[in-house]
Amino acid sequence: MANFFTDNADIQFLFNHIDLAELARIQEDEFVHADDGACDYAPADEADTVDNYRRILEIVGQVAGDMIAPNAEQVDAEGNTLNQDGTVTLHPLVQKNLDRLTQADMMGFTLPYKYGGLNCPNLIYTMATEIISRADCSFMNMFGLQGIAETVNAFACEEIKDEVLPRFARGEVTGAMVLTEPDAGSDLQAVRLRATQDEQGNWCLNGVKRFITNGCGEILLTLARSEPDIADGRGLSLFISERSEKVKVRHLESKLGIHGSPTCELVYTDTPAKLVGERQRGLITYVLALMNGARVGIASQSLGVAEAAYRLARTYAHTRCQFGGPIKRLPAVAEMVTDMAIHVEAARALTYETSRVCDHERNNLRIMEWSKDIDKDEKKRRKQLARSLKRLNAMLTPMSK
Ligand SMILES: Cc1cc2nc3c(=O)[nH]c(=O)nc-3n(C[C@H](O)[C@H](O)[C@H](O)COP(=O)(O)OP(=O)(O)OC[C@H]3O[C@@H](n4cnc5c(N)ncnc54)[C@H](O)[C@@H]3O)c2cc1C
Repeated sequence: MANFFTDNADIQFLFNHIDLAELARIQEDEFVHADDGACDYAPADEADTVDNYRRILEIVGQVAGDMIAPNAEQVDAEGNTLNQDGTVTLHPLVQKNLDRLTQADMMGFTLPYKYGGLNCPNLIYTMATEIISRADCSFMNMFGLQGIAETVNAFACEEIKDEVLPRFARGEVTGAMVLTEPDAGSDLQAVRLRATQDEQGNWCLNGVKRFITNGCGEILLTLARSEPDIADGRGLSLFISERSEKVKVRHLESKLGIHGSPTCELVYTDTPAKLVGERQRGLITYVLALMNGARVGIASQSLGVAEAAYRLARTYAHTRCQFGGPIKRLPAVAEMVTDMAIHVEAARALTYETSRVCDHERNNLRIMEWSKDIDKDEKKRRKQLARSLKRLNAMLTPMSK
């Protein structure tokens, strides 16, 4: 029985030393959810919440160690399958991994209780992402796309949220972030995929996207040009659509690695869609927020891969014998393995701290937005806090990545 959470002394150390109780109190809105009927599993105090976090990570660690890791090599050798009708069949073991995490209720990690989520802070999600990535870097791309649901939660109207978020939390759907086009990669202001509205106000999408991770998922968040007369980023809006025969996967990228993660080219033909948030804010507000979260996700994914590589190197140094003993006794080899451990632990401390700051920034904004009885001085204090957390986050997030 392998458990990638409990077998990692450094994660345990950070879990025990970071002030999770303070984070728990804010994240749980001072524990009102224990009584407000939103769900029957909301914790009642700090200790209860931190205990929940530990149990959640123990489950993730066990699924990662016992199931996802042993499947990874076969998944990477065999990949997913593109069908003639423009759909994709996931590798059976990828589907099995997904089903197992769904069964364990791990697919609504950061979503609020009212949608069936676990209401975990970003920090706990980052730890889980690292653990999954150590088991299978490509599977993290499925697990890590929960950021799509977070974006819907942050910016969509109540109707869309009610329709989509419980399905994410139940693991019935996965999502994709659909931005890149053949002529719009780093330069997303050049996006051309067109969003048009009919006389009844219904939107539909036409065009091509490429390099889309899990583009075969059921819920697509698509950046499209809704204002044909505005050539830059201000002409772009964000849309949500469901997988249907009106959006087809034309091609699966052949990559050097992460074969378990389908990277899709998508063709939209009169695909029905709904506007997320406000027109023209697609790139400048929503996608920028989504990408900031994705950056921390990439940092934790890289951390998981680094941890796996370090463990392989350490085992090899202990078991490979030359000059009458294991090569770990050779100073040059010992130094390399020690350097790896230092880099991994430093990266972990930085990434977890970044996630903690993200949580405090997000929670502070949430409190400012929702608290009606906040007095003038408190409002001023929170505004100042928001500015300094934003600055800190803008520095830490790219550093982590
Ligand atoms: C495995 C994989 C998964 C992906 N998943 C998704 C996804 O889920 N959704 C999605 O929308 N996209 C996805 N992408 C696309 C990814 O976001 C783009 O590849 C990326 O934005 C770069 O675009 P590009 O490949 O067109 O390169 P280009 O933008 O054409 O860049 C070409 C080269 O120029 C460099 N360059 C570009 N601009 C600058 C600059 N300002 N300064 C310095 N150098 C620069 C780049 O670093 C690169 O080396 C994925 C890509 C890959 C490989």
